[in-house]
Amino acid sequence: MEKSKTKHVAPAITALAYTLLVPFLFACSSQRAAIKQEVAVDPTHKVVVIVLDGARYSETFGDSTRQHIPYLSALASQGTLFTSFYNDGLTQTMAGHSTLLTGHYDVVDNGGYDSLQRPGIMQLYQRQTGAPATATVMLATKGKLRSFAGCGSEVQVEEHALALCGESIDHDVMLVQKTESILSTHAPSVSYISFSQPDYAGHDGIWEGYIDALKLSDSLAVALYHRLRRQPAYQDALFVFTNDHGRHLGERWADHGDDCAGCRHIMLLAIGGGMPADVIVQERFSMAQLMPTLSKYLGLSLAVGYQPLITHFPSATLPSQ
Ligand SMILES: [Zn+2]
Ligand SMILES: [Zn+2]
Repeated sequence: MEKSKTKHVAPAITALAYTLLVPFLFACSSQRAAIKQEVAVDPTHKVVVIVLDGARYSETFGDSTRQHIPYLSALASQGTLFTSFYNDGLTQTMAGHSTLLTGHYDVVDNGGYDSLQRPGIMQLYQRQTGAPATATVMLATKGKLRSFAGCGSEVQVEEHALALCGESIDHDVMLVQKTESILSTHAPSVSYISFSQPDYAGHDGIWEGYIDALKLSDSLAVALYHRLRRQPAYQDALFVFTNDHGRHLGERWADHGDDCAGCRHIMLLAIGGGMPADVIVQERFSMAQLMPTLSKYLGLSLAVGYQPLITHFPSATLPSQ
C-alpha cells in the first residue's frame, strides 16, 4: 500500500517542486558571487557524516557492554554521545538518508528512483558558497543512494555532490579506500559516507552474520575516522556517526520499516569541531534536527520550517541568521 502510494505521489510533488524552484535556481546561479559575500562560511569548518545502515541501537550503544562496537565505544569518550536520538519518519533506507540530508521527513521511494525532494545540506552548501561539486561528496556501498547525490539527473548538474556515479563500490572495505582517496584529494567541506554491511547482513536473517557485519563496520568506520583525522584538513573536522534506521525488535529483527522502538532508535555520536568530549546526553532529539544543526555549524543560512537545532553542538550557540 505504502509503496504504490509513494509512486503516484512522488512524481507529482517533484514536478511541482521543479515548477516552483527552477526560476529560483536560475536566479540563485546568477547571484552566486553576491551570495558568497553574504554567507559567513568558514572554509576550515568541515563535516563528515558516517552512516552505519541498519545497525540496531540495541546492538550498538544500547548494549551496555558495547561488545559489538569496541572501536566506536572507545571513540565515544572523545566526543558527545546522544542516547535518545530517533528516526521519527519512515524507517526505510531512502527515507532515512533523505531526512539526514534535508532535515525533513519526506515520503521517498525506497527503490532509489527519487531525487531529494528539497535541497540537501550539500546543495545548500554549494548554492550559498558558490563552491564546486568537489566541495561536497557522497559515497556509499548501496548504489541506490547515488540518486541523492545527483547521479542520473539532468537538473542542476553543478550542484551535485561528488560521487562515483558510473562506478559501484562493492564493499565497505573499498568504501574506506575510496573515501580516503577522494577526501585527501579534494578535502570537501561536507562528506556523507554510508556503510551498508549491517543492513545487508541483517536482511539475510542470520544473526551471527549480522553481528559480524556490525563488527566489521565498527572497525572500518573508526579506521576511516583515524585516517582522515591524520590529514591536516580534517584535524579539527566535526565527525558524526549515525544510522538511517534500526531494525525491528524481537523475532522480526531481520527487517525494518515500521514505528517500533527498534526501528526508530538510532545512534548519534559527534566528535571534534568543538564538540564536548566524554559527554553523554540523554535528552531526546529527532533525526530531522541533525541537518539544520550541521548546516549552522558550517555557517549556512536556513529558511523557515526546520526543526530546532540539537543543543550541545557548537552551532546551537550561534545567533540565528
Ligand atoms: Zn537502511
Ligand atoms: Zn520495527
